[in-house]
Amino acid sequence: YGDASQKVDYVFKVVLIGDSAVGKSQILSRFARNEFSLDSKSTIGVEFQTRTLVIQHKSVKAQIWDTAGQERYRAVTSAYYRGAVGAMLVYDITKRQTFDHIPRWLEELRAHADKNIVIILIGNKSDLEDQRSVPTEDAKEFAQTEELFFLETSALEATNVENAFLTVLTEIFNIVN
Ligand code: GDP
Ligand code: MG
Repeated sequence: YGDASQKVDYVFKVVLIGDSAVGKSQILSRFARNEFSLDSKSTIGVEFQTRTLVIQHKSVKAQIWDTAGQERYRAVTSAYYRGAVGAMLVYDITKRQTFDHIPRWLEELRAHADKNIVIILIGNKSDLEDQRSVPTEDAKEFAQTEELFFLETSALEATNVENAFLTVLTEIFNIVN
């Protein structure tokens, strides 16, 4: 799934951040392997997954880093952010607290990452509309103020996951070209 060609023109490191259980690992799993698991164990060990795709006739290897459960202890280290050219800042649309923590994650990101890093805010679990506690408009407004891209996704239903990664990767591609 996803291997576009043998020759790689670019490698882009993208980091996933946000509170525990918002769906970061499932978003990655959906993007890298087109898989989803409802009872996903907290991530242990795996540092990143890759998928190679084609953007404007160039082969781009996306190297997506997942936090390996460290988000619980605020222990995401600067090594995690090193070399990252993109970041996906994820909250759960059914858990207001995970959205309220976004400014902290953004602060941490801006402290540790390159200042030109491309950031997308992601409201995940859009399939759980009946449990929504974060209005789309609130997130949209926040993203506009902070100059972030914004999308709501469902890793479960595969809604907008591809779109979210493509948004970040294409923007990075345009910056380096
Ligand atoms: P992480 O801690 O941020 O990596 O979160 P996980 O990817 O481990 O997901 C936490 C829980 O939310 C798991 O039970 C997932 O199956 C579930 N989950 C993840 N994404 C979605 C989604 O889009 N919709 C729904 N309904 N559940 C999801
Ligand atoms: Mg995880």
